Amino acid sequence: MHIAIIGAGAAGCFCAINLKRQCPDLNISIYEAGRKALAKVAITGGGRCNLTNTFKQVSDLKQVYPRGDKLMKRALMRFSEKDLCNWFEGEGVKLVAQEDECIFPASQDAMQIVNTLLGNIHRLGIALQTSHKVTQIEHSKDGRYRLRFQNEAQGEIQADYVVVCSGGHPTKKGFEMFSSLDLQVIAPLPSLFTLNIAGNWHQTLMGTVVENASVMIAGTKFKSHGALLLTHWGMSGPAILKLTSYAARHLAEQNYRGNLLINWFGTSSEIEIKQELSTFMRDYPARQVTNEYPRHLSSRHWHYLITKSNISETQRWGTINSKEFNRLVTTLTADPYMVTGKCPFKEEFVTCGGVALSNININTLEAKKHPGLFLAGEVLDVDAVTGGFNLQAAWSTGYIISQEIALRLQADSTPHM
Ligand SMILES: Cc1cc2nc3c(=O)[nH]c(=O)nc-3n(C[C@H](O)[C@H](O)[C@H](O)COP(=O)(O)OP(=O)(O)OC[C@H]3O[C@@H](n4cnc5c(N)ncnc54)[C@H](O)[C@@H]3O)c2cc1C
Repeated sequence: MHIAIIGAGAAGCFCAINLKRQCPDLNISIYEAGRKALAKVAITGGGRCNLTNTFKQVSDLKQVYPRGDKLMKRALMRFSEKDLCNWFEGEGVKLVAQEDECIFPASQDAMQIVNTLLGNIHRLGIALQTSHKVTQIEHSKDGRYRLRFQNEAQGEIQADYVVVCSGGHPTKKGFEMFSSLDLQVIAPLPSLFTLNIAGNWHQTLMGTVVENASVMIAGTKFKSHGALLLTHWGMSGPAILKLTSYAARHLAEQNYRGNLLINWFGTSSEIEIKQELSTFMRDYPARQVTNEYPRHLSSRHWHYLITKSNISETQRWGTINSKEFNRLVTTLTADPYMVTGKCPFKEEFVTCGGVALSNININTLEAKKHPGLFLAGEVLDVDAVTGGFNLQAAWSTGYIISQEIALRLQADSTPHM
Protein backbone atom coordinates (compact mmCIF):
# COMPACT_ATOMS: atom_id res chain seq x y z
CA MET A 1 0.00 0.00 0.00
CA HIS A 2 1.55 3.29 -1.09
CA ILE A 3 0.33 6.75 -0.06
CA ALA A 4 1.59 9.67 -2.16
CA ILE A 5 1.36 13.15 -0.70
CA ILE A 6 1.97 16.01 -3.13
CA GLY A 7 3.52 19.06 -1.47
CA ALA A 8 5.62 19.27 1.70
CA GLY A 9 3.93 22.34 3.11
CA ALA A 10 1.92 22.68 6.30
CA ALA A 11 -0.98 20.47 5.14
CA GLY A 12 1.16 17.78 3.47
CA CYS A 13 3.64 17.32 6.32
CA PHE A 14 0.95 17.38 9.00
CA CYS A 15 -1.12 14.82 7.11
CA ALA A 16 1.86 12.52 6.57
CA ILE A 17 2.96 12.60 10.23
CA ASN A 18 -0.49 11.94 11.64
CA LEU A 19 -1.20 9.18 9.16
CA LYS A 20 2.08 7.43 9.90
CA ARG A 21 1.39 7.65 13.63
CA GLN A 22 -1.92 5.87 13.12
CA CYS A 23 -0.55 3.33 10.62
CA PRO A 24 3.16 2.84 11.38
CA ASP A 25 3.67 0.18 8.69
CA LEU A 26 2.33 2.33 5.91
CA ASN A 27 4.58 3.37 3.02
CA ILE A 28 4.15 7.16 2.78
CA SER A 29 6.05 9.40 0.37
CA ILE A 30 5.88 13.18 0.18
CA TYR A 31 6.78 14.64 -3.22
CA GLU A 32 7.87 18.25 -3.01
CA ALA A 33 8.61 20.48 -6.02
CA GLY A 34 11.00 22.74 -4.14
CA ARG A 35 14.43 21.99 -2.76
CA LYS A 36 13.22 22.32 0.82
CA ALA A 37 10.15 21.20 2.74
CA LEU A 38 8.03 23.74 4.64
CA ALA A 39 9.69 26.72 2.95
CA LYS A 40 6.55 28.83 3.30
CA VAL A 41 5.94 27.94 6.94
CA ALA A 42 9.47 29.19 7.65
CA ILE A 43 8.52 32.70 6.50
CA THR A 44 5.01 32.88 7.94
CA GLY A 45 4.16 35.59 10.42
CA GLY A 46 7.31 37.51 9.50
CA GLY A 47 9.44 34.49 10.52
CA ARG A 48 7.52 34.04 13.80
CA CYS A 49 4.75 31.74 12.43
CA ASN A 50 1.27 32.73 13.48
CA LEU A 51 0.23 29.09 13.46
CA THR A 52 -3.36 29.53 14.63
CA ASN A 53 -5.80 31.74 16.52
CA THR A 54 -7.82 31.33 19.72
CA PHE A 55 -10.98 32.07 17.66
CA LYS A 56 -12.27 33.93 20.78
CA GLN A 57 -13.18 37.00 18.72
CA VAL A 58 -14.82 35.00 15.93
CA SER A 59 -18.59 34.87 16.18
CA ASP A 60 -19.15 33.85 12.55
CA LEU A 61 -16.61 31.81 10.58
CA LYS A 62 -17.58 33.71 7.40
CA GLN A 63 -15.81 36.76 8.92
CA VAL A 64 -12.50 34.93 8.84
CA TYR A 65 -13.02 32.41 6.01
CA PRO A 66 -14.62 34.41 3.17
CA ARG A 67 -14.40 31.22 1.10
CA GLY A 68 -14.83 27.79 2.69
CA ASP A 69 -16.52 28.70 5.99
CA LYS A 70 -18.88 25.71 5.86
CA LEU A 71 -16.06 23.28 5.21
CA MET A 72 -14.03 24.87 8.00
CA LYS A 73 -16.93 24.61 10.45
CA ARG A 74 -16.90 20.84 9.98
CA ALA A 75 -13.10 20.66 9.89
CA LEU A 76 -12.70 22.56 13.17
CA MET A 77 -15.16 20.21 14.86
CA ARG A 78 -12.83 17.34 14.01
CA PHE A 79 -9.50 19.10 14.56
CA SER A 80 -9.75 22.46 16.28
CA GLU A 81 -7.28 25.16 17.22
CA LYS A 82 -7.18 23.60 20.71
CA ASP A 83 -6.30 20.21 19.24
CA LEU A 84 -3.53 21.89 17.27
CA CYS A 85 -2.13 23.64 20.36
CA ASN A 86 -2.21 20.34 22.27
CA TRP A 87 -0.45 18.64 19.37
CA PHE A 88 2.46 21.09 19.27
CA GLU A 89 2.67 21.41 23.05
CA GLY A 90 2.83 17.62 23.17
CA GLU A 91 5.91 17.97 20.98
CA GLY A 92 7.44 20.38 23.50
CA VAL A 93 6.63 23.58 21.57
CA LYS A 94 5.43 26.21 24.04
CA LEU A 95 2.81 28.50 22.49
CA VAL A 96 1.60 31.98 23.38
CA ALA A 97 -1.58 33.86 22.45
CA GLN A 98 -1.14 37.56 21.83
CA GLU A 99 -3.69 40.17 22.89
CA ASP A 100 -5.16 40.06 19.38
CA GLU A 101 -5.76 36.29 19.84
CA CYS A 102 -3.08 35.24 17.32
CA ILE A 103 -1.07 32.22 18.50
CA PHE A 104 2.71 31.96 17.99
CA PRO A 105 5.46 29.72 19.32
CA ALA A 106 6.79 31.30 22.54
CA SER A 107 10.24 31.20 20.92
CA GLN A 108 8.84 33.59 18.25
CA ASP A 109 10.70 31.43 15.75
CA ALA A 110 8.94 29.74 12.82
CA MET A 111 11.90 27.38 12.49
CA GLN A 112 10.79 25.69 15.72
CA ILE A 113 7.58 24.66 13.96
CA VAL A 114 9.48 23.61 10.83
CA ASN A 115 12.03 21.59 12.81
CA THR A 116 9.34 19.90 14.91
CA LEU A 117 7.57 18.69 11.78
CA LEU A 118 10.77 17.71 9.98
CA GLY A 119 12.03 15.85 13.08
CA ASN A 120 8.82 13.78 13.07
CA ILE A 121 9.04 13.08 9.35
CA HIS A 122 12.57 11.71 9.73
CA ARG A 123 11.92 9.80 12.96
CA LEU A 124 8.78 8.14 11.59
CA GLY A 125 10.50 7.07 8.37
CA ILE A 126 8.34 9.06 5.96
CA ALA A 127 10.07 9.37 2.56
CA LEU A 128 10.51 13.05 1.73
CA GLN A 129 11.41 13.50 -1.93
CA THR A 130 12.34 17.11 -2.60
CA SER A 131 12.86 18.49 -6.16
CA HIS A 132 10.03 16.21 -7.33
CA LYS A 133 7.48 18.35 -9.10
CA VAL A 134 4.33 16.40 -9.98
CA THR A 135 3.03 17.38 -13.42
CA GLN A 136 0.23 14.84 -13.89
CA ILE A 137 -2.08 12.73 -11.74
CA GLU A 138 -3.81 9.95 -13.64
CA HIS A 139 -6.59 7.78 -12.28
CA SER A 140 -6.08 4.29 -13.67
CA LYS A 141 -8.83 1.85 -14.47
CA ASP A 142 -7.71 -0.39 -11.60
CA GLY A 143 -8.52 2.47 -9.19
CA ARG A 144 -4.89 3.28 -8.43
CA TYR A 145 -3.19 6.59 -9.27
CA ARG A 146 -0.13 7.27 -11.41
CA LEU A 147 1.99 10.36 -10.82
CA ARG A 148 4.35 11.83 -13.41
CA PHE A 149 7.13 14.27 -12.60
CA GLN A 150 8.54 17.27 -14.42
CA ASN A 151 11.94 15.62 -14.45
CA GLU A 152 11.25 12.59 -16.62
CA ALA A 153 14.34 10.85 -15.26
CA GLN A 154 12.42 10.49 -12.00
CA GLY A 155 10.04 8.13 -13.80
CA GLU A 156 6.50 7.72 -12.58
CA ILE A 157 5.02 6.20 -9.47
CA GLN A 158 1.86 4.35 -8.55
CA ALA A 159 -0.14 5.09 -5.44
CA ASP A 160 -3.25 3.67 -3.78
CA TYR A 161 -4.15 6.96 -2.15
CA VAL A 162 -3.08 10.45 -3.22
CA VAL A 163 -3.30 13.52 -1.00
CA VAL A 164 -2.85 16.78 -2.92
CA CYS A 165 -1.45 19.51 -0.68
CA SER A 166 0.21 21.65 -3.34
CA GLY A 167 -0.93 25.00 -1.90
CA GLY A 168 -2.21 28.06 -3.72
CA HIS A 169 -0.97 29.17 -7.14
CA PRO A 170 -1.34 32.59 -8.68
CA THR A 171 -2.39 31.19 -12.08
CA LYS A 172 -4.34 28.20 -13.41
CA LYS A 173 -1.05 26.76 -14.67
CA GLY A 174 -0.30 25.67 -11.12
CA PHE A 175 -3.28 23.30 -11.32
CA GLU A 176 -2.20 21.54 -14.52
CA MET A 177 -1.54 18.29 -12.68
CA PHE A 178 -5.33 17.82 -12.54
CA SER A 179 -5.79 18.07 -16.32
CA SER A 180 -6.65 14.39 -16.80
CA LEU A 181 -9.01 14.34 -13.80
CA ASP A 182 -12.61 15.45 -13.59
CA LEU A 183 -12.03 18.35 -11.18
CA GLN A 184 -13.17 21.93 -11.57
CA VAL A 185 -10.68 24.62 -10.62
CA ILE A 186 -11.98 28.06 -9.65
CA ALA A 187 -9.67 30.64 -11.28
CA PRO A 188 -7.05 31.62 -8.71
CA LEU A 189 -6.72 35.26 -7.72
CA PRO A 190 -4.62 37.10 -5.17
CA SER A 191 -6.10 37.75 -1.76
CA LEU A 192 -4.67 39.65 1.25
CA PHE A 193 -2.79 42.48 -0.44
CA THR A 194 -2.12 46.17 0.10
CA LEU A 195 -3.63 48.94 -2.02
CA ASN A 196 -2.11 51.81 -3.98
CA ILE A 197 -4.05 55.00 -3.36
CA ALA A 198 -3.96 58.23 -5.39
CA GLY A 199 -3.70 61.69 -3.88
CA ASN A 200 -1.29 64.18 -2.45
CA TRP A 201 -1.62 63.05 1.15
CA HIS A 202 1.24 60.54 1.16
CA GLN A 203 3.98 62.95 2.25
CA THR A 204 1.80 64.31 5.07
CA LEU A 205 0.40 61.08 6.45
CA MET A 206 3.04 58.47 5.59
CA GLY A 207 3.68 56.29 8.67
CA THR A 208 0.35 57.14 10.34
CA VAL A 209 -1.34 54.21 12.08
CA VAL A 210 -4.96 54.36 13.18
CA GLU A 211 -5.62 51.46 15.53
CA ASN A 212 -9.30 51.09 14.73
CA ALA A 213 -10.61 52.35 11.40
CA SER A 214 -13.43 51.07 9.19
CA VAL A 215 -12.83 50.78 5.48
CA MET A 216 -15.47 50.15 2.86
CA ILE A 217 -15.51 49.95 -0.93
CA ALA A 218 -17.96 52.61 -2.10
CA GLY A 219 -21.09 51.21 -3.73
CA THR A 220 -20.56 47.70 -2.37
CA LYS A 221 -21.17 45.74 0.82
CA PHE A 222 -17.45 45.04 1.29
CA LYS A 223 -16.36 46.47 4.61
CA SER A 224 -13.79 45.72 7.29
CA HIS A 225 -12.30 47.29 10.36
CA GLY A 226 -9.04 47.11 12.27
CA ALA A 227 -5.67 48.83 12.29
CA LEU A 228 -4.95 50.92 9.19
CA LEU A 229 -1.46 51.92 8.11
CA LEU A 230 -0.85 54.81 5.72
CA THR A 231 2.29 54.36 3.65
CA HIS A 232 4.20 56.27 1.00
CA TRP A 233 2.31 54.42 -1.73
CA GLY A 234 -1.10 53.74 -0.23
CA MET A 235 -2.75 51.79 2.56
CA SER A 236 -1.96 48.61 4.38
CA GLY A 237 -2.52 46.97 7.78
CA PRO A 238 -5.11 44.42 8.96
CA ALA A 239 -8.13 46.53 7.88
CA ILE A 240 -6.93 46.61 4.26
CA LEU A 241 -5.76 42.99 4.18
CA LYS A 242 -9.15 41.87 5.48
CA LEU A 243 -10.99 44.05 2.97
CA THR A 244 -8.96 42.69 0.04
CA SER A 245 -9.68 39.17 1.23
CA TYR A 246 -13.45 39.78 1.38
CA ALA A 247 -13.45 41.64 -1.95
CA ALA A 248 -10.73 39.64 -3.76
CA ARG A 249 -12.95 38.79 -6.75
CA HIS A 250 -14.70 42.16 -6.92
CA LEU A 251 -11.38 44.03 -6.90
CA ALA A 252 -9.97 41.79 -9.64
CA GLU A 253 -13.08 42.42 -11.79
CA GLN A 254 -12.60 46.17 -11.28
CA ASN A 255 -8.92 45.85 -12.26
CA TYR A 256 -8.01 46.95 -8.73
CA ARG A 257 -9.65 50.36 -9.09
CA GLY A 258 -12.43 51.94 -7.10
CA ASN A 259 -13.15 54.24 -4.18
CA LEU A 260 -12.61 53.59 -0.50
CA LEU A 261 -14.58 55.33 2.22
CA ILE A 262 -12.86 55.48 5.59
CA ASN A 263 -14.43 55.97 8.97
CA TRP A 264 -11.54 57.20 11.14
CA PHE A 265 -13.61 56.37 14.25
CA GLY A 266 -13.82 52.64 13.48
CA THR A 267 -17.24 51.19 14.05
CA SER A 268 -18.66 54.33 15.75
CA SER A 269 -21.82 55.60 14.08
CA GLU A 270 -22.30 59.08 12.71
CA ILE A 271 -24.54 59.90 15.70
CA GLU A 272 -21.85 58.79 18.17
CA ILE A 273 -19.21 60.87 16.40
CA LYS A 274 -21.48 63.91 16.36
CA GLN A 275 -21.98 63.50 20.10
CA GLU A 276 -18.21 63.27 20.67
CA LEU A 277 -17.51 66.41 18.60
CA SER A 278 -20.33 68.25 20.38
CA THR A 279 -18.53 67.71 23.70
CA PHE A 280 -15.49 69.58 22.27
CA MET A 281 -17.77 72.47 21.24
CA ARG A 282 -19.37 72.53 24.66
CA ASP A 283 -16.27 72.00 26.82
CA TYR A 284 -13.65 73.94 24.82
CA PRO A 285 -15.46 76.75 22.96
CA ALA A 286 -12.47 79.10 23.18
CA ARG A 287 -9.83 76.53 22.17
CA GLN A 288 -8.58 76.11 18.61
CA VAL A 289 -9.79 72.96 16.85
CA THR A 290 -6.18 71.85 16.47
CA ASN A 291 -5.51 72.03 20.21
CA GLU A 292 -8.36 69.84 21.43
CA TYR A 293 -9.25 66.83 19.32
CA PRO A 294 -10.01 63.07 19.55
CA ARG A 295 -6.79 61.62 20.89
CA HIS A 296 -6.92 58.34 19.00
CA LEU A 297 -5.83 60.41 15.97
CA SER A 298 -2.36 61.95 15.74
CA SER A 299 -2.02 65.73 15.65
CA ARG A 300 -0.66 65.50 12.08
CA HIS A 301 -3.62 63.40 10.98
CA TRP A 302 -6.16 65.68 12.69
CA HIS A 303 -4.65 68.77 11.01
CA TYR A 304 -4.99 66.99 7.68
CA LEU A 305 -8.65 66.05 8.29
CA ILE A 306 -9.56 69.56 9.49
CA THR A 307 -7.99 71.11 6.38
CA LYS A 308 -9.72 68.54 4.18
CA SER A 309 -13.03 69.65 5.73
CA ASN A 310 -12.28 73.27 4.74
CA ILE A 311 -12.00 74.38 8.34
CA SER A 312 -9.23 76.75 9.33
CA GLU A 313 -6.63 75.30 11.71
CA THR A 314 -6.98 78.40 13.91
CA GLN A 315 -10.75 78.23 14.17
CA ARG A 316 -12.18 77.83 17.68
CA TRP A 317 -14.55 75.01 18.59
CA GLY A 318 -17.21 77.49 19.72
CA THR A 319 -17.35 79.17 16.29
CA ILE A 320 -17.90 76.06 14.15
CA ASN A 321 -21.16 76.48 12.25
CA SER A 322 -23.49 73.66 11.31
CA LYS A 323 -22.20 73.40 7.71
CA GLU A 324 -18.61 73.09 8.91
CA PHE A 325 -19.68 70.62 11.58
CA ASN A 326 -21.41 68.40 9.00
CA ARG A 327 -18.45 68.61 6.61
CA LEU A 328 -16.13 67.52 9.41
CA VAL A 329 -18.42 64.62 10.34
CA THR A 330 -18.49 63.49 6.71
CA THR A 331 -14.69 63.59 6.48
CA LEU A 332 -14.38 61.60 9.69
CA THR A 333 -16.95 58.95 8.78
CA ALA A 334 -16.74 58.60 4.98
CA ASP A 335 -13.39 60.01 3.91
CA PRO A 336 -12.98 59.13 0.19
CA TYR A 337 -9.75 57.77 -1.37
CA MET A 338 -9.20 56.49 -4.89
CA VAL A 339 -7.68 53.01 -5.30
CA THR A 340 -5.33 52.90 -8.31
CA GLY A 341 -3.95 49.38 -8.01
CA LYS A 342 -2.68 46.63 -5.77
CA CYS A 343 0.74 45.74 -4.42
CA PRO A 344 3.11 44.14 -6.94
CA PHE A 345 2.32 40.60 -8.11
CA LYS A 346 3.63 37.92 -5.70
CA GLU A 347 3.60 40.19 -2.65
CA GLU A 348 0.15 38.95 -1.67
CA PHE A 349 -0.04 36.35 1.09
CA VAL A 350 -2.58 33.85 -0.20
CA THR A 351 -4.66 33.10 -3.26
CA CYS A 352 -8.39 32.60 -3.36
CA GLY A 353 -9.72 30.03 -5.80
CA GLY A 354 -8.46 26.48 -6.29
CA VAL A 355 -10.25 23.15 -6.51
CA ALA A 356 -14.01 23.84 -6.23
CA LEU A 357 -15.53 22.56 -3.02
CA SER A 358 -18.46 21.15 -5.00
CA ASN A 359 -15.98 18.58 -6.33
CA ILE A 360 -15.17 17.13 -2.94
CA ASN A 361 -17.05 15.59 -0.06
CA ILE A 362 -16.61 18.36 2.52
CA ASN A 363 -16.70 15.89 5.41
CA THR A 364 -13.99 13.57 4.17
CA LEU A 365 -12.16 15.91 1.73
CA GLU A 366 -12.16 13.15 -0.90
CA ALA A 367 -12.79 13.98 -4.56
CA LYS A 368 -16.35 12.84 -5.38
CA LYS A 369 -15.40 11.37 -8.76
CA HIS A 370 -12.01 10.01 -7.73
CA PRO A 371 -12.14 7.71 -4.70
CA GLY A 372 -8.82 7.66 -2.88
CA LEU A 373 -7.84 11.18 -4.02
CA PHE A 374 -7.94 13.74 -1.20
CA LEU A 375 -7.18 17.47 -1.12
CA ALA A 376 -6.01 19.60 1.81
CA GLY A 377 -4.90 23.17 2.47
CA GLU A 378 -4.76 26.10 0.12
CA VAL A 379 -5.11 24.00 -3.05
CA LEU A 380 -8.82 24.00 -2.17
CA ASP A 381 -11.04 27.02 -2.71
CA VAL A 382 -10.68 27.89 0.98
CA ASP A 383 -8.84 30.95 2.24
CA ALA A 384 -8.88 33.21 5.23
CA VAL A 385 -8.01 36.66 6.49
CA THR A 386 -4.76 37.10 8.45
CA GLY A 387 -4.52 35.91 12.06
CA GLY A 388 -3.40 32.26 11.80
CA PHE A 389 -6.61 31.08 10.11
CA ASN A 390 -4.94 30.02 6.84
CA LEU A 391 -2.47 27.74 8.59
CA GLN A 392 -5.26 26.34 10.79
CA ALA A 393 -7.11 25.38 7.60
CA ALA A 394 -4.00 23.53 6.39
CA TRP A 395 -3.48 21.71 9.73
CA SER A 396 -7.18 20.77 10.14
CA THR A 397 -7.69 19.53 6.60
CA GLY A 398 -4.37 17.63 6.59
CA TYR A 399 -5.30 15.96 9.89
CA ILE A 400 -8.79 14.95 8.77
CA ILE A 401 -7.40 13.22 5.69
CA SER A 402 -4.93 11.29 7.86
CA GLN A 403 -7.92 10.04 9.89
CA GLU A 404 -9.99 9.23 6.82
CA ILE A 405 -7.24 7.18 5.17
CA ALA A 406 -6.43 5.40 8.44
CA LEU A 407 -10.12 4.52 8.88
CA ARG A 408 -10.33 3.08 5.35
CA LEU A 409 -7.21 1.01 5.86
CA GLN A 410 -8.45 -0.31 9.19
CA ALA A 411 -11.81 -1.20 7.63
CA ASP A 412 -10.02 -2.99 4.76
CA SER A 413 -7.87 -5.02 7.14
CA THR A 414 -10.74 -6.04 9.45
CA PRO A 415 -11.72 -9.63 8.57
CA HIS A 416 -15.29 -9.77 7.24
CA MET A 417 -17.54 -12.32 9.01
C1 LIG B 1 4.75 35.62 3.41
C2 LIG B 1 3.61 34.79 3.94
C3 LIG B 1 3.31 34.83 5.29
C4 LIG B 1 2.23 34.10 5.79
N1 LIG B 1 1.98 34.11 7.12
C5 LIG B 1 0.95 33.39 7.62
C6 LIG B 1 0.73 33.31 9.03
O1 LIG B 1 1.49 33.86 9.85
N2 LIG B 1 -0.34 32.58 9.46
C7 LIG B 1 -1.18 31.91 8.60
O2 LIG B 1 -2.13 31.26 9.05
N3 LIG B 1 -0.94 31.92 7.27
C8 LIG B 1 0.11 32.62 6.77
N4 LIG B 1 0.35 32.60 5.42
C9 LIG B 1 -0.47 31.71 4.56
C10 LIG B 1 0.00 30.26 4.78
O3 LIG B 1 1.39 30.20 4.68
C11 LIG B 1 -0.61 29.30 3.75
O4 LIG B 1 -2.01 29.47 3.72
C12 LIG B 1 -0.26 27.87 4.10
O5 LIG B 1 1.14 27.69 4.08
C13 LIG B 1 -0.92 26.90 3.14
O6 LIG B 1 -0.45 25.60 3.44
P1 LIG B 1 -0.45 24.47 2.32
O7 LIG B 1 0.22 23.30 2.93
O8 LIG B 1 -1.79 24.32 1.76
O9 LIG B 1 0.44 25.07 1.15
P2 LIG B 1 1.98 25.49 1.14
O10 LIG B 1 2.47 25.76 2.50
O11 LIG B 1 2.08 26.54 0.12
O12 LIG B 1 2.70 24.17 0.65
C14 LIG B 1 2.50 23.66 -0.64
C15 LIG B 1 3.75 22.90 -1.05
O13 LIG B 1 3.47 22.19 -2.25
C16 LIG B 1 4.56 22.30 -3.12
N5 LIG B 1 4.08 22.08 -4.49
C17 LIG B 1 3.33 22.92 -5.24
N6 LIG B 1 3.07 22.36 -6.45
C18 LIG B 1 3.67 21.15 -6.45
C19 LIG B 1 3.78 20.11 -7.40
N7 LIG B 1 3.22 20.22 -8.60
N8 LIG B 1 4.49 19.00 -7.07
C20 LIG B 1 5.05 18.87 -5.83
N9 LIG B 1 5.01 19.84 -4.91
C21 LIG B 1 4.30 20.96 -5.20
C22 LIG B 1 5.09 23.71 -2.87
O14 LIG B 1 6.43 23.84 -3.28
C23 LIG B 1 4.90 23.84 -1.37
O15 LIG B 1 6.03 23.43 -0.65
C24 LIG B 1 1.43 33.32 4.90
C25 LIG B 1 1.73 33.29 3.53
C26 LIG B 1 2.81 34.00 3.06
C27 LIG B 1 3.13 33.94 1.59
